[in-house]
Amino acid sequence: MTTRREFVETAGAAGIAFVACNLASAAPVQAQGRRREVVVNGRRVKTIDVHAHCAVPEAMALMGRKVEPQTLLMPQPLDRIRAMDEQGIDVEALSINPYWYKADREVARELIKIQNEKLAEACAANPDRFVAFASVALQHPELAAEQLEEGVKKYGLRGAGIGGSVNGEDVSDPKFNPFWAKAEQLGVVVFMHPQGDGAAADLKGRLKGSGGLDNTIGNPLETTIALSHLIFEGTLDHFPGLKICAAHGGGYLPSYADRSDAICTTFPNRCTTPLKKKPTEYLKQLYFDSLVFTPEALRHLVAVAGAGQIVMGTDYPYPWTKTSVDHILSTPGLSDDDRIAILGGTAAKLLGIKA
Ligand SMILES: [Zn+2]
Repeated sequence: MTTRREFVETAGAAGIAFVACNLASAAPVQAQGRRREVVVNGRRVKTIDVHAHCAVPEAMALMGRKVEPQTLLMPQPLDRIRAMDEQGIDVEALSINPYWYKADREVARELIKIQNEKLAEACAANPDRFVAFASVALQHPELAAEQLEEGVKKYGLRGAGIGGSVNGEDVSDPKFNPFWAKAEQLGVVVFMHPQGDGAAADLKGRLKGSGGLDNTIGNPLETTIALSHLIFEGTLDHFPGLKICAAHGGGYLPSYADRSDAICTTFPNRCTTPLKKKPTEYLKQLYFDSLVFTPEALRHLVAVAGAGQIVMGTDYPYPWTKTSVDHILSTPGLSDDDRIAILGGTAAKLLGIKA
């Protein structure tokens, strides 16, 4: 049976072929890198991709893991920059999917130190093209808070990348409050990406077979559960200044958000934690990436959360899309200001990038 990890790695291998293939077939001038510049109503927009994966092999070695696919590597970012240039992406905010949540405190401390140093080096090598989210050992919440502070203050990282769950525990569990408190205090964004060993693993038996459902459904479901708990357990009331950005358009939550209000009116005894506002209103303080594929899906996401809450995300190097910019440009009903905000204006503010 294909595990999610194998599936992702297969998809990633296709990503290498995809990039290489494009270059091989392109005219020499393109192969040398023609950079697409995105303009909205005569104004050059600095476009920012908040959902871009990478890997640090020196850190992975501490957990006995190897990097797959190679396009995740940063020391030679030529393929990555070429892909960005072709797609009209000026800046990537790099993140690393947590694979270290089972590491003990000492391994986690060392691994994150190496990883955040290397992320900072990768950004420093191309400071106008890359920023990065700090990695943190969320299984040790106090340590994660320290690592976030060090990542931001010492290494110039712009926030944290976390999973949608931590070894089966939801990130709304009060044990994680030291991390949330630090993120709120620092005023930095937390990019939340589903864990392969989260909801998809819990439902392994149901998600096997054709369609790659562990990825297709499992990933957005993991995010849906994580965000729902952050709302219903009162975490977002407890830390109202949090800036959380959810991958994959927030999973299924925005597309069926009204049910979250309906549960509280239909079965009020099921909503045991008093909330300061209706569940759907919290979606207007969360951020979501734009990886929802169609203009209609993006229109709906904007209708639910507000144009100011959506930021561009590609999932590089996994080849889900190479038309994120065009998706945003072609979605009907958006104003020029909306498009500029989604393409990069909002992310620039969240990540401290000069627009
Ligand atoms: Zn991703």
